[in-house]
Amino acid sequence: MGTEQKECRMPKLVTGGLYQLVLPTPFPVGPVNCYISTRSPITLVDTGTKWEPSLQELKSQLAELDLSLERIERLVITHPHADHYGLASQIVSASGAQVFSHPVNESALCPTAQHKQMRDEFCHQLMLESGVPADQVADFMAARVETRPYAEPVCMDCELNEGDTVKLGDAEWNVLHTPGHSGGLICLYQPECRVLLSNDHLLRNISSNAIVEPDHAGGPRPHRLVQYLYHLERIASLHASIAWTGHGGEITDVNATVRKRLRLHERRADHILTLLQEQSLSAYQLSHTIFGTRHGFDTFLALSETICHLDLLLEQSKIFPTYQAGITFWTAAV
Ligand SMILES: [Zn+2]
Ligand SMILES: [Zn+2]
Repeated sequence: MGTEQKECRMPKLVTGGLYQLVLPTPFPVGPVNCYISTRSPITLVDTGTKWEPSLQELKSQLAELDLSLERIERLVITHPHADHYGLASQIVSASGAQVFSHPVNESALCPTAQHKQMRDEFCHQLMLESGVPADQVADFMAARVETRPYAEPVCMDCELNEGDTVKLGDAEWNVLHTPGHSGGLICLYQPECRVLLSNDHLLRNISSNAIVEPDHAGGPRPHRLVQYLYHLERIASLHASIAWTGHGGEITDVNATVRKRLRLHERRADHILTLLQEQSLSAYQLSHTIFGTRHGFDTFLALSETICHLDLLLEQSKIFPTYQAGITFWTAAV
């Protein structure tokens, strides 16, 4: 899994005192981009995966900047996915760094037994409602947590909310809460330089996906794709000149990339609507029709993406549900 990724890269300058570090991951997505502010307080934005090659690469790139794990004072976690916070606990142990993130991320970064049980029950119920065959539910549930060994829980010390600022390098960066890919995802924006750290909200070569999650406070399940599309348009309204991403290269045509992503989701929603005009289908049947047979974590992502599009079509009153034996079937209303 991805061990062929190129290693021993050099840190790349983003803006004064802020560098990009590219760290390998064991995941098909490839390396993850993290960012280090070399000015006080020395701050690492995202950590990479809890995986030895990632830790070694982080250490060697920090050494290129005359830094070490022990000198990190702050960690900013953009969202609670293993490739972005997996090493956080180890870094905190080595350095005593304070952990900053959006409050919505707290239960995912440092889950109690109750949170884990709540998430498992939520997913199990969602699989059944989506029409995942009973003999495949266990595989789906296992696929969902495939990345867990690559992250260690870490407790948050400080909240970062919409409107807060964070000092990175020579500048103050605005915190933007942009839920969608994850409910607590934050981007960081430097308005004078018009530089965006977009992490997984906007990637250059791949379309970021909205992922189904329970509400962090126990409310109704949030419609993540609806939120995601809203916050993509919000990114376009910034007129950023460059976006430094969570995976892959930086984006110099930010608004054109946003428009491309919006069109892609529109086309996918149209495709789903066309399928539902022909017959009523469950989310599982749709996912299979659209994405074909997937394996491992991808099976969960494909179903999640499908459910998110059904949420969007439902909010647009273009589809309606019917229920049979605990499974939700969707039909076009237009
Ligand atoms: Zn992510
Ligand atoms: Zn990621």
